[in-house]
Amino acid sequence: MTSNRTAEVAGAGIAGLAVSIALAQRGWKVRAYERSPSLRPDGAGIYIWENGLRVLASLGAHDEAVEGCHRGFMRETRDDQNRTVAAAHFAKMPNLRVVSITRMKLLTALSNRARELGVEVVFGTEAVSATPDGEIRLSTGEIRKADLVVGADGINSKIRDSVNLLRKRTPLADGAIRVMIPRRMDERVSDDGRKYIEYWNGMRRILVTPCSDTDTYLAFTTLDTDRPGKTVPIDKSLWKKSFPHLRDHIDRVGEGGRWDLFETIHLKRWHEGRIAIIGDAGHAQAPNLGQGGGCGMMNALALAHYVSTCPTIESGLVDWEQRERPLIEHTQRVSSIYSRVAALPPRMQTVVLTMAGKSRWVLDQRLKAARHLPTGAEHEFR
Ligand SMILES: Cc1cc2nc3c(=O)[nH]c(=O)nc-3n(C[C@H](O)[C@H](O)[C@H](O)COP(=O)(O)OP(=O)(O)OC[C@H]3O[C@@H](n4cnc5c(N)ncnc54)[C@H](O)[C@@H]3O)c2cc1C
Repeated sequence: MTSNRTAEVAGAGIAGLAVSIALAQRGWKVRAYERSPSLRPDGAGIYIWENGLRVLASLGAHDEAVEGCHRGFMRETRDDQNRTVAAAHFAKMPNLRVVSITRMKLLTALSNRARELGVEVVFGTEAVSATPDGEIRLSTGEIRKADLVVGADGINSKIRDSVNLLRKRTPLADGAIRVMIPRRMDERVSDDGRKYIEYWNGMRRILVTPCSDTDTYLAFTTLDTDRPGKTVPIDKSLWKKSFPHLRDHIDRVGEGGRWDLFETIHLKRWHEGRIAIIGDAGHAQAPNLGQGGGCGMMNALALAHYVSTCPTIESGLVDWEQRERPLIEHTQRVSSIYSRVAALPPRMQTVVLTMAGKSRWVLDQRLKAARHLPTGAEHEFR
């Protein structure tokens, strides 16, 4: 596809790289600005569901991203006694894949693909603001003009805020510390060692996620009010007291990690003039469904599709928001509900988790985004 159109993208995270690739594939000349001096893989591991895998395939980054990853076949929720209260057998669900990989692997695959397509990624440069007529101002003082400016600059987006698009930023009750630990040989073959398991005990929970033969990703989640629980580096004796059966995993945690409070972002509109906002900048969600990055990539591909196929960029942006926003907002809502369960008393939690685990309807709501055929990838997967 050829086009003389140009795009300036703020942020080279998951969403920024995905939109850069998708635009370049459609003939756009793309430049992305990343304020960090190199790729910034905060957050240890990441789940990529079927929708995200389809986007990666469409972008031409799938094989490199998933090489050596862990393919999920089952997810369990366990109570404080290590009893399984809910289980989802992904392997038995048709057309539904989920993998877990290290963030670095995902970002590297996206970045390599972007470079291959001629996207210019400028590291160490911050995007400061943008105007609706397509100008972007950089921390260097330079102003660049393009047919499209994309704000993919994360939850504290300067591009979004420079045009006053934020409607609501909602902090949730919980947050997480994410770390990577070495995966032991026996865990590669044991039943529990190959499952995704989330262990609950009151306000605290630990999600154990194998990511490769050598890496396991742990997310220590608790309420924001749990001061000792959100200390970094983690207080090992505290967490071992809550989860004695995970003593061995906790002992392998190093010094790293960061406390991230979960938040949701809702915009007044996803676009203003020639500016579009995507990823956490536009629709951050609680990570309980493992869909923030997946939705960011889906929306990046959809944006590139609409602005490349509609008669004008402006009409493409209108169609894009109209078609894509309902599913993303559904995913944000369902994920936030899960966060509310964390604030319930323990007995109530077990009842809710058990009932939810048995409900086909709840499962369908949780997996709605995962099962979605992303706009722009239809011809490959229909
Ligand atoms: C605990 C937790 C677990 C999660 N687990 C999952 C999961 O399993 N699966 C999933 O799909 N999602 C998950 N998510 C969500 C996912 O991490 C995010 O949705 C995703 O990283 C958002 O990507 P992004 O590119 O929009 O933003 P970011 O990842 O924040 O990237 C933004 C990039 O822009 C750069 N930047 C920022 N400001 C500027 C600026 N002004 N100029 C230039 N560059 C700038 C930043 O350095 C960064 O590189 C999780 C989130 C959390 C908190």
